[in-house]
Amino acid sequence: MSTRQDVGLRSFSKLFIGGRWVDPVSEETLSVVSPSSEEVIATVPSASPADVDAAVAAARRAFDDGPWPRMSAAERAGYLSRIRDEVAARVEDMEHAFSAEVGAPAGVSKAFHQNALAAWDDAITVHQRAAFEEKRSWGDGEGVLVREPVGVVAAIIPWNGPVAQASMKYAPALAAGCTVVLKPSPEAPLSTLILAEAIEAAGLPEGVVSMVPAGREVGEHLVRHPDVDKVSFTGSTAAGKRIMSICGERIARVSLELGGKSAAIVADDVPVGDVVPSLVQAGVINSGQVCAALTRVLVPRHRQQEFAEAIAGEMESYSVGSPFEEGTDLGPLVSEQQRERVESYVRLGVEEGARLITGGARPEGLERGWYVAPTLFADVRNDMRIAREEIFGPVMCLIPFDGIDEAVAIANDSDYGLSGAVYAEDTALAERVARQVRTGQICINGWAMRIDQPFGGYKQSGLGREGNLEGLGAFLEYKLIQHS
Ligand code: NAD
Repeated sequence: MSTRQDVGLRSFSKLFIGGRWVDPVSEETLSVVSPSSEEVIATVPSASPADVDAAVAAARRAFDDGPWPRMSAAERAGYLSRIRDEVAARVEDMEHAFSAEVGAPAGVSKAFHQNALAAWDDAITVHQRAAFEEKRSWGDGEGVLVREPVGVVAAIIPWNGPVAQASMKYAPALAAGCTVVLKPSPEAPLSTLILAEAIEAAGLPEGVVSMVPAGREVGEHLVRHPDVDKVSFTGSTAAGKRIMSICGERIARVSLELGGKSAAIVADDVPVGDVVPSLVQAGVINSGQVCAALTRVLVPRHRQQEFAEAIAGEMESYSVGSPFEEGTDLGPLVSEQQRERVESYVRLGVEEGARLITGGARPEGLERGWYVAPTLFADVRNDMRIAREEIFGPVMCLIPFDGIDEAVAIANDSDYGLSGAVYAEDTALAERVARQVRTGQICINGWAMRIDQPFGGYKQSGLGREGNLEGLGAFLEYKLIQHS
């Protein structure tokens, strides 16, 4: 039976290569499946290695001989501003396509696409804050330090927020003067292909932008391509390790935005009712499929039961269902495979001796669609696998601590370091704790992902930063020009 999300979705038959829609080399297609109806809702071409080669060749020519890297940053910003307007004009189509392909409810979809617009806004103005040329002097000499675009960029993104993730790569790379070939994931290419239409409408010079939806083998072909100067990857830590090792073979520049297992530290002075809505939202937003989700909640041991009951109550008040139903808080997981993975972690948590407080099952009345009820474990020890590994589902771990120093130690005892939060009435304590946690962003008394400020991870959560000057810097090289 058809459901409302099938309405208005377009299939694509062409690939966006070098700024034009062209016929793909092979007839292979990717089927986009609705996570709520389990039906195929659209198809798009699956780019082949030959399509990737064509896109990289166009990007190489545009970088080596075309106007894009040679025009002023202010002139490029004019194009970016046009892209931003074209994105804004299509944002509802993108939100709809994203909800259909990933299962995100309307509110989540809107927030993610606001992030996409924020990435373009940031890139439009970043050149005004950046020093592309700087005089340097030493001893009896002087020179100029020039920052130049790094070259042809291969950008690879996952499915959980594709238009924002694509914008966080395209926008600063283009602002820097790079040319870009981006590979969306096979699960969620539709909203990103609408982004390609927005970019096309802005009329950039030939060859500057390409988009090649495909699976990981073709992604790896792009990463290995000798004409790619820089790889900017967002995805799992496992894939990031592989991509970095491939880049290592030719010292290709690489930036990585990877997984997380972020901790919320709740101090003893916090009233439970003040923080639980924020904690649950930060833990299970987009059904937990957010790299910066706060999936470990660290609470004073003597208050664990109080928090367990309050968090469970909040989770049970969430409405789980179709992303297109009014009032839905949580939609399905992106795929059957993802649901199996999440369910296997729920079984593991029980085997490891954690206490299942709520959830852990498929919600009643939702026979179709890859749903999992929001799930809370208590009595979690930080050495359990459910506390160490990224589950990427609506599963939160309550970990008791004895003293705030132990809380910091638990937060830091992780392979990851992407996001985090400290909840405390004592703001001096909150500041001190925030400075002690080794993570790329941390929020006091709330949770947020600021993508127009440096965003990225410590440790195995990544390498480098996206957003603002630091994000621009990821697409620039330094060159010192000196007279002898
Ligand atoms: P994934 O790593 O399986 O795939 C991500 C993308 O990389 C896809 O387009 C995939 O086709 C491609 N890919 C995979 N292996 C590749 C290879 N060897 N060579 C080239 N391309 C390859 O991740 P996923 O399951 O799609 O996404 C979820 C993961 O992304 C989670 O771990 C999440 O934390 C992470 N993520 C991180 C951030 C961040 O900014 N730090 C943001 C969102 C998601």
